[in-house]
Amino acid sequence: NATLQDFDPEIAQVLDRELARQQTYLEMIASENFVPRSVLQAQGSVLTNKYAEGYPGRRYYGGCEEVDVAENIAIDRAKSLFGAEYANVQPHSGATANAAVLHALARPGDRIMGLSLAHGGHLTHGMKLNFSGKLYEVSAYGVDDTTHLVDMDKVREQALADRPDVIIAGWSAYPRHLDFAAFRAIADEVGAKLWTDMAHFAGLVASGLHPSPIPHSDVVSTTIHKTIGGPRSGMILSRDAEAYGKKLNSAVFPGQQGGPLMHVVAAKAVALKAAAGSEFRERNERVLEGAKILADRLTSPDAIEAGVNVVSGGTDVHLVLVDLRNSPMNGQEAEDLLHAVGITVNRNAVPNDPRPPMVTSGLRIGTPALASRGFGSEEFSEVADVIATALKGGADVDALRARIAKLAGDFPLYEGLQQ
Ligand code: PLP
Repeated sequence: NATLQDFDPEIAQVLDRELARQQTYLEMIASENFVPRSVLQAQGSVLTNKYAEGYPGRRYYGGCEEVDVAENIAIDRAKSLFGAEYANVQPHSGATANAAVLHALARPGDRIMGLSLAHGGHLTHGMKLNFSGKLYEVSAYGVDDTTHLVDMDKVREQALADRPDVIIAGWSAYPRHLDFAAFRAIADEVGAKLWTDMAHFAGLVASGLHPSPIPHSDVVSTTIHKTIGGPRSGMILSRDAEAYGKKLNSAVFPGQQGGPLMHVVAAKAVALKAAAGSEFRERNERVLEGAKILADRLTSPDAIEAGVNVVSGGTDVHLVLVDLRNSPMNGQEAEDLLHAVGITVNRNAVPNDPRPPMVTSGLRIGTPALASRGFGSEEFSEVADVIATALKGGADVDALRARIAKLAGDFPLYEGLQQ
């Protein structure tokens, strides 16, 4: 019964140092967030000890009476939050949720049509080294060369020519809303299923601050750890339980996974409760406001003059894609520079990026984690100015780091947390 500190000081130190890192740096990786303590508590609980293969009321193990309650609560909250008829809360991650969706909607060799990775899609939407690119035939669509938007007329043309079995709407790096009704119409016209992967923007949908894909899609998948701000994991939803419920359940278990992570399922339930509250909506309003402030600052005349811009000229969501194609600074250098200043982001290819994928000409910068930390318009304006000043080149890094340290100090994170 030794504590972690006593039993394994090496790992205890990693946890302590990681906590300090999260407290010291400003987290702007668009796919990250900070979970509330209630989620940490559920996830670090004795539920990790339990095997529960199967579904509530139909398990392959005894002693599931308590975890059944947790899973049913998570399912009910997910359905009610998103207005879905069906929810599966067992996927260990977004990628396993997506593997299960394709398993349920298509057979190996069928054709899938998703946004290409190079234009903002996800690995699981048909990238050639991923299971999705190996098991299925892929017809990837891209964004328009000039507007950098998904052009639904072109998607329709491609769908009519390539006749996909599954059309995928969703992205990892795209700063605008998708037209779900138009995707639905195209899917109907070509006889395809429509799967939306809302991993990035699910929290905004839950808050009513982003159009919902649920009424238009056959199946919707998501992660729980990005804009929802819950534990690292995935979930699958559908508007039509009768058509897809059994197929999806069996695609998750036994199709993809063995025993669900019941501590994570319980933590999902907690996160979904939080996502239904008014504080969550207010937080996501700050998320969107912060992203707009960032996009405005990075497209102001001094930024443009220095070769900085943002993809599509702005944002409707929680992230901006910085376009450095006209800048002497590449994505890798920009990521390293912001790290030196105290801001964590990831470099990201922009559409038709002239630089190699490990270098890139872009940055993906998101606001969810800082909004969870309490940032509002004033703080986002300060961060945006620090980023713009850094990216313009030739800045005084020490001075910028001091401005970031002040913000981090003003908004403490996990104060007094015992790991
Ligand atoms: N789907 C999309 C659109 C994503 O952006 C991601 C994560 O980056 C995933 C799925 C996969 O999630 P995970 O990393 O939990 O497997």
